[in-house]
Order: sequence, then C-alpha cells, then structure tokens
Amino acid sequence: MSLIINEVTDAVLEKGVHYLTSDYKDRNKDRMHKGIDLIGKGKSIDNVIAISSGKVITSKYSKTAGNYVEIEHANKYITRYLHMKDNSLKVKKGDYVSKGEILGTMGNTGNSRGAHLHFVVLNPNLVPVDPLPYLLGEKDFGETEEDYFKSFVKNVQKILGVKVDGIPGPSTLNKTITISSKTNNKHPLVLVLQNYLLYLGYDEVGIPDGIAGSRFTKAVKRFQLENACVSDGVITKKQKTWQKLLKLK
Ligand SMILES: [Zn+2]
Repeated sequence: MSLIINEVTDAVLEKGVHYLTSDYKDRNKDRMHKGIDLIGKGKSIDNVIAISSGKVITSKYSKTAGNYVEIEHANKYITRYLHMKDNSLKVKKGDYVSKGEILGTMGNTGNSRGAHLHFVVLNPNLVPVDPLPYLLGEKDFGETEEDYFKSFVKNVQKILGVKVDGIPGPSTLNKTITISSKTNNKHPLVLVLQNYLLYLGYDEVGIPDGIAGSRFTKAVKRFQLENACVSDGVITKKQKTWQKLLKLK
C-alpha cells in the first residue's frame, strides 16, 4: 500500500509530509518490528523528529533496527524510530527532547529494504499499538500544555541561534524575524509556527508544510484578532504578535 496521510498533526518527519508505505495492520508478526513505514512525498528523504517531548532511553545501532532511537513520553508510552542513516543520530541516551526536535535522518540501516522510517509506538507494557491515531492527533502522549509551549519555545530558540532553555525572554524576542506570506515565507520558523498554531486549535493552518501561504495567513490573522494584535497576518515583534506567541508582555 502507498498512501499519503493527511492531517498529520503530530509529525515524525520534519517536512510534515507522511507517505505511508506499509500499514500497522499488514505488518509482519514480529512484535519488535510492529509499526508503520513512512517516507516523504515522492520517496523523499527527510529528517526524523520526535512526535512528542520525552526522555531518550535508547540511541544506538542494532543489526535489525539499524541506527534507532527510543523515547519515553510523559504517559510512559515509548516511541521507536528505526533504520536511520549512519552518523545521523543527533541525540543520546538520557537527553530530554522536545516535540519536533530532530533525532536523525531517515535511512536504510539494519533489516530494511530501501530508505524509510519505521515508526513504532509501545504501551507501558512494551506491547506495540497502532501508531496512526498518534500521528493524527487522536491520541497523545500525555504532554501537558506547558510541555508543549516549552517545546515550541526551544524549537524557536534553536532556529534563532539563541540559548535553548525553553524560557522566552528579551534575548529570544530580539532575534525574532518577520514572518508572513510575503516575508521569510519558507523560513524554518514557518513549520514550527504551523505546528504550534495547530496545537492551539487554529485548524485553518491545514497540513504543516513549512510554507506560509493563504491558510497560514488566515490562522495568524485569527490568532492576532484573539490576542489583541493588529490582524494583518504578519508576525513581527513591532506589532507584538511574537510577544503574544512567546507569552511575553
Ligand atoms: Zn519498516
């Protein structure tokens, strides 16, 4: 099977496009490997990102899983990301990762035929469960709103090149740039903002794709309207939209 999964609200691929090449249901009986296979649109290779915040409990190579990462989440569920490219793992055991943080690059290591992300969700008894409802945001990993906000801030800080501590302040705000459909519309911040706006319930955003278009503008305008900013769809610090997004005065 080959199917594009729409409305992925909790992405595991950085560009946000998830092509399902093998389903949980038609997977082999091997429990260790039970999950789904994903690639980017047009068989593109993408970075693998954390679906939700949590603690890295495994980051290593195995003969079958290849280079893989396991994250334990707030609700004690575990996500597993297999077959990543050699020398691409960005996290180590013991690290705390934010939602959306890059774990490595999709690859073909271990028991794999062709580059793909094999994504597995395990319950606290280490029994695999269907990952799809998690990608679609129908189920979550117990991440609190506070956790999510912190992840958002960390992702913004990382992109802006300031200290990554998840606590917004003047140093973060001062580095922010204008984002709109006309300015920096393909900046890496766009994807982070799309995911955050979706989380806040601005469904106008649609599928996060890293490009600020008319849907993005529509969502920003409503956010601005509801947060006493000038509703022009342009995110700047001058007009205080960045302040509101970062919960600063
Ligand atoms: Zn696979």
